[in-house]
Amino acid sequence: MGNDTIGNASVHVLPPLPYAENALEPVISANTINFHYAKHHKGYVDNLNKLIAGTEFAGLPLEKIITETAGKPDKAAIFNNAAQAWNHAFYWRSLSSKGGGEPSADLKQKIEASFGTVDACKKELAAAATTQFGSGWAWLALDGGKLTVIKTGNADSPLAKGMKPLFTIDVWEHAYYLDYQNRRADYVSAVLEKLINWSFAADNLK
Ligand code: MN
Repeated sequence: MGNDTIGNASVHVLPPLPYAENALEPVISANTINFHYAKHHKGYVDNLNKLIAGTEFAGLPLEKIITETAGKPDKAAIFNNAAQAWNHAFYWRSLSSKGGGEPSADLKQKIEASFGTVDACKKELAAAATTQFGSGWAWLALDGGKLTVIKTGNADSPLAKGMKPLFTIDVWEHAYYLDYQNRRADYVSAVLEKLINWSFAADNLK
């Protein structure tokens, strides 16, 4: 995601937002999206480029940087910035102004095989998102052939655990504090009811 060659140096670029900054209102304000995308997400991409310049990681795709630095304490700064760059690009695409509703038949069948019902899956996602202590993410992911819900702390990603992410919710305070202050559960339930991009999640099954 977001690899460009400028001159001789291969640098990661901030991928464009897939919608206007006000597209997710009233669930997420344009103000939140502006800070979150143009400051936080951009910051991770810029930091990553500084950290990997001239190292063995320069020129590698984000996914490869993430899997090669995961669990290595001396590479934590590179892992954190690479994973946050990836997680945010994935988060924007996990949301849609036309989201909510029901997943497509294929995804629905897969969800029902793992969770019983779509509602039960959403309840697990809400529980993971609200009980993640401190900063982190809640994910719907494919683990082997089965769907699972997990939460990860800080920058950590299902990619680092060999899973394939289908959908994520950012539960760092910067994702919701301007709009919801301490009411993380309200942000999470609004996202799951109105913004969850089931068609993106279904595309990630392929
Ligand atoms: Mn974030």
